[in-house]
Amino acid sequence: MQSLEALTREAQTLAGGDTTEHSITWHKKGLSANEAEVARVLQICNACRYCEGFCAVFPAMARRLEFDHKADLNYLANLCHNCGACLHACQYAPPHEFGVNVPQAMAKVRLETYTDFAWPASLGQLYKNNGLTLSLATAFGLVLFLILTILSTGELLNQPMTTPLSGNFYAIFPHNTLVLMFGLVFGFAVLALAIGVRRFWKEISPGQPAEAATRKAALGEAARDALRLKYLDGGHGEGCNDENDRFTLRRRRFHHLTFYGFMLCFAATSVATLYHYFLDLHAPYAPTSLPVILGTLGGLGLLAGPAGLLWLNMNRSPLHGDAAQKPMDRAFIALLLLTSASGLALLFWRNTGAMPLLLAIHLGVVMALFLTLPYGKFAHGIYRCAALLKWSTEKRQPNNLGLGGD
Ligand code: SF4
Ligand code: SF4
Repeated sequence: MQSLEALTREAQTLAGGDTTEHSITWHKKGLSANEAEVARVLQICNACRYCEGFCAVFPAMARRLEFDHKADLNYLANLCHNCGACLHACQYAPPHEFGVNVPQAMAKVRLETYTDFAWPASLGQLYKNNGLTLSLATAFGLVLFLILTILSTGELLNQPMTTPLSGNFYAIFPHNTLVLMFGLVFGFAVLALAIGVRRFWKEISPGQPAEAATRKAALGEAARDALRLKYLDGGHGEGCNDENDRFTLRRRRFHHLTFYGFMLCFAATSVATLYHYFLDLHAPYAPTSLPVILGTLGGLGLLAGPAGLLWLNMNRSPLHGDAAQKPMDRAFIALLLLTSASGLALLFWRNTGAMPLLLAIHLGVVMALFLTLPYGKFAHGIYRCAALLKWSTEKRQPNNLGLGGD
């Protein structure tokens, strides 16, 4: 581990604009410039350790002496929940000459994770550069395609906007066509995410797998921590920092509304599928039926959560994150909002002649959402769960350094 004096000299060199020596040193170790910055910052944190109780990153960091392994840096970056607490508590944060900004450095490496491990890699790179445009263009293209499909079959023309269709979606798109379209899109999203997270897991967890009992306990704890968003509480339960030093639980609550809203919508679709295939009960379902109740509650959660996250995103301190990621963040939020708004509109006006058009819009947006899931902000949830599982496993294993308390 480098001394604080050595790190001070390194920070002064960087602050003076001479990054050449620093870059060459880390480049030789196979690290990117962003990973090198995380390594530098963590060396300072490892000597300081003031933030040990804030989140899992610091006790995980304390189990290491050196930070020149790509795998460790990717793991720790994804373990960070970007709550901002360690920036606002840090005596070495900018404008201090050390320039320690853990959340920002971690955010930049996380973006590299999403693109480096993406499958196929070319799509990860594309989304990184054009998140918002690409998402909206995909949604627009699919909506247009579906409208043209309806027009070509004459349904939109033969069903004037005033003619009710009794909410019968299958009069517009046959059930089997919908199953095929969404089966392919959903299957692709699951496959791409699974390949990405498997590559990530293989990199951060080489070597012998843990014993079965350890794996079971770690899995339970990681699932609890992920579902509760434990590390969005700032380590003291009062929450994250958003625009300033003040703590708030808004980010945690908006994330929960978004996640559980999404899961309720997914449950609504799953229950409707079971009704269709196993109970021979076909859509449209009554407003008091389980699929409609689940879908309505999910849609409302998916409207309130992303709206709140967008508001936080626009007001967040620029020091917390990586400005380059804003388009990607907002693209995902925009698609979630469009999904819930179009879904609720479809439910509300399903018995009117506007239904075919609303159906085309909703289906196009949902397909765009699923097609872009593996290459955008959604991926952060998957990689973070993997990092939480790694931490829950690691903390149950002997600490060979014997330096850091878990
Ligand atoms: S973020 Fe700052 S205060 Fe916290 S451990 Fe690192 S150097 Fe210390
Ligand atoms: S920003 Fe929050 S979650 Fe990330 S390292 Fe700092 S305290 Fe931990």
